[in-house]
Amino acid sequence: TDDLARAEALIRTIPDYPEPGVQFRDITPLLADAAALSTVIDALIDPFAGEFDVVAGIEARGFLLAGAVATRADVGLVPIRKAGKLPRPAASVAYSLEYGSATIEVHDDIAPGTRVLLVDDVLATGGTLRAAHELMPRIGGSVVGTAVLLELLALGGRALVPDVRTVFTV
Ligand code: 5GP
Repeated sequence: TDDLARAEALIRTIPDYPEPGVQFRDITPLLADAAALSTVIDALIDPFAGEFDVVAGIEARGFLLAGAVATRADVGLVPIRKAGKLPRPAASVAYSLEYGSATIEVHDDIAPGTRVLLVDDVLATGGTLRAAHELMPRIGGSVVGTAVLLELLALGGRALVPDVRTVFTV
């Protein structure tokens, strides 16, 4: 639609950030625009409407979208955080990055069988979302889908996150 095209045009590309050779996709101009933000929140929810009981957002930019998705879909929100940030983590998953490794953690505040929609801003290599998938069953969550704003096709992350639906691709 025109609304989606207009929102997509607000994603800014920053060359050589955070390091030389990387084209960073900056979603902050889109977030700052009321109509664009509203449009993409609807687009993230649409494929999964009525199918989830809670949204799990991934630190840090995933939080920005997950909060809006949760309130619009009238469900709760579970933050998935980088290691060491949560006061009482119930589960953690370590995964490898292009350089080094990372760990994500989550609290245990959902009932067994809760249907979870994972949300993040960008799908790059897919490592983060795959780790988030592994994390949810450890707290009794059942992942029903993954909603991402922007997929970086060249990195092939979709292979690690088969249920992913992306609003934009580049
Ligand atoms: P992955 O684990 O898929 O390689 O990396 C995904 C994570 O890195 C996401 O949480 C995302 O926020 C971040 N990321 C990687 N590349 C970009 C980018 O170009 N723009 C933004 N906004 N985030 C990125």
